[in-house]
Amino acid sequence: MDMKRWRCTICNQIFEGEQPPAPCPVCGADADAFELVEEAPEEGTAAPSALRYLLVGGGVAALEAARAIRKQDPAGRITMVCGENTIPYNRPGLSDLVAGTKEFAGLLLKPMDWYAENGIRLLCGVTVTEIDHTSRTARLSDGQTVGYDRLLLATGASAFNPVQAQPGGPSVQVLRTVSDAYAALQLAGRSVLVVGGGILGVEAALALHAQGCRVTICELSDRLLALQADAEASRRIRAALEEAGIRVLCGTTVQTAARPVLLQNGETVEADAVLVSIGICSELALAKQLGLACERGIVVDESMRTGLPDVYAAGDCAQFGGRVSGLYPAASMMGMTAGSNMAGKAAVYRPLPPATALDEPGIQMVSVGALSSAPFAAFTSADGSEYRAVYAENGRVTGVLLWGRVNQSVAAAKAVREGADPQKVCELLEMS
Ligand SMILES: Cc1cc2nc3c(=O)[nH]c(=O)nc-3n(C[C@H](O)[C@H](O)[C@H](O)COP(=O)(O)OP(=O)(O)OC[C@H]3O[C@@H](n4cnc5c(N)ncnc54)[C@H](O)[C@@H]3O)c2cc1C
Repeated sequence: MDMKRWRCTICNQIFEGEQPPAPCPVCGADADAFELVEEAPEEGTAAPSALRYLLVGGGVAALEAARAIRKQDPAGRITMVCGENTIPYNRPGLSDLVAGTKEFAGLLLKPMDWYAENGIRLLCGVTVTEIDHTSRTARLSDGQTVGYDRLLLATGASAFNPVQAQPGGPSVQVLRTVSDAYAALQLAGRSVLVVGGGILGVEAALALHAQGCRVTICELSDRLLALQADAEASRRIRAALEEAGIRVLCGTTVQTAARPVLLQNGETVEADAVLVSIGICSELALAKQLGLACERGIVVDESMRTGLPDVYAAGDCAQFGGRVSGLYPAASMMGMTAGSNMAGKAAVYRPLPPATALDEPGIQMVSVGALSSAPFAAFTSADGSEYRAVYAENGRVTGVLLWGRVNQSVAAAKAVREGADPQKVCELLEMS
């Protein structure tokens, strides 16, 4: 039997257990921030039998789809093909692996036994190379052919990396897979230029710094975390990183990854390695081969259906409402939605406002929703240690940022979800 599942209403992460974890292991929210994830009922639903489900991908989207299918269809034959040579793991935890605060075993989403216990045939270290939807068969890289009745593409994404390695220059690396993480660990004690000052770049920089690396971050925009923080919070993050000894260069990026690395503004940086963290590219090869509509990702509707009957897509490879989310909780919920629908139980995906929680020395920040250019109201405590800002559009809260004191994050997340009255939210957050 699966345990209860709890969703943190601040960072949207899902955890298993009889009780919610307290505090949240990701964002530190209290127990009252958790809500029970509504699972589709196990009884009273039409359970198709002996259907063959093929799940392409070994990330959280495929895993959640497998769980949801098994819940609805105890007899269905589920095959999950994982391109990486490992069973599914928590990808965001790779930053902790690089920082040395977690072992890989602690990142596994489910123990090996769970797949056998749930009748899930798990093929690791092989990829699906070709799909023929007319005969409903897929060819694998090891030569096997697998038949299916329902197909899920949960192929995720790869790191976008336009930086060319130069002969004799520093290594050019990314951090997307566990192999990348082990390669990053080899950089301990060396000098690294992190390209990209978004949340993943900053986390990678902090992780490498914890490994004794001399770290410089370069970010093309004029501030760090431009998508997840407002200007004041970005300034504070930069100050905290610089205080820790991480050099931050904004408004520029790599021109040539030589020794030293040449930046577009003409500056040079001594680096043994360049770690590129500037976004993702959805894995679309199979979708394109099937003739599915693809833009940035595979276009899906709210039930995660593509344009082909019985073909679904979920996670970082999928585009819903014009966006590829690129976020773990979204991939997880898309996977659940796809799995339920594949097994005949109608389910609808409703995106949640994006949330970011950073808890590092000198940085305690929670941001939820959209932070437009000017805040509706902002507050800084007398000693400067606390900062809060509320963002609104058309009289409704669209985003909240909390710095220093984040114990109101449950109320803030609720206000954003509900589009609350900004004045009332300012009062609630004691912004005067
Ligand atoms: C270092 C790091 C930190 C992150 N931190 C956060 C965070 O703090 N918060 C957050 O919300 N998100 C974070 N993310 C993003 C999050 O990890 C992703 O959004 C999420 O993992 C996407 O899950 P997915 O299942 O869609 O795809 P993926 O996790 O990319 O999994 C897809 C899998 O499918 C496999 N595959 C691809 N093609 C094939 C094929 N043809 N055959 C077989 N297998 C195939 C791939 O090898 C891969 O294993 C982070 C990502 C990284 C890399």
